[in-house]
Amino acid sequence: MVTSLLHRIRYIAVAALLGATVTACTTVAETGRTQFNFMSDRQANQMGLGAYQQIKKEKKISRNTELAKQVRQVGNRVAKASGRNYAWEFTLFEDENPNAFALPGGKVGVNTGLFKVAKNRDQLAAVMAHEVAHATSRHSAERVSGQTGVQAILVGAGAAMGASQNTMNLFAQAATLGVILPFNRSQESEADYIGLLFMARAGYDPRQAVELWKNFANYGGNRPPEFLSTHPSPGNRIQKLQANMPAAMREYQNSPYRK
Ligand SMILES: [Zn+2]
Repeated sequence: MVTSLLHRIRYIAVAALLGATVTACTTVAETGRTQFNFMSDRQANQMGLGAYQQIKKEKKISRNTELAKQVRQVGNRVAKASGRNYAWEFTLFEDENPNAFALPGGKVGVNTGLFKVAKNRDQLAAVMAHEVAHATSRHSAERVSGQTGVQAILVGAGAAMGASQNTMNLFAQAATLGVILPFNRSQESEADYIGLLFMARAGYDPRQAVELWKNFANYGGNRPPEFLSTHPSPGNRIQKLQANMPAAMREYQNSPYRK
């Protein structure tokens, strides 16, 4: 009896460990990069939804229906081009800071202030494609998984055990942390590269991404966390975009939206 119980406990422990190993690594499809990731997509998407609902309660949603419609249209077209069947949602917030964000599961936010920098539809598409790329590349989950200390261990243990309500609360907390923490530089470069492909595939001129980053570089106001302080320097980022431009132009020329 005791032996059988011990056997079962050992079995559960091994199963949990295997589960953790299986979910500890995922791959970014467009770049082939392997990433350390404790969370399943389902768990990460729950986390994204919870954080998005919280942000929508706390931040003022824009009443400019024309701009909000444009954000939704451009966002949905880029999202479709990404080939990911998420419950995409694009919200325009009343905030003069030229910024945007992306949460797991395709929850994207754009500030009205972004239009000071994104001067046309293609430039707006460049920002939205960059955000869509953060979401499809599971950057938030990766960022949370990379946190050291108790929280990461708890999230990992939760993922291995399956999603109970307590686990989900943990994910909600992790999400809040994930929203506050900036993406790291390699994630930003990856989102630039993948975003460039996505916008081109959606029929937006990828050369406008370069113009957008020039506008950001010249923007003198507050330094928004997502677009200036943690990103590669504008010169460096423009150089990389130009290196990837031939591939992006091929996508653009073959885009079904241009036919
Ligand atoms: Zn970014």
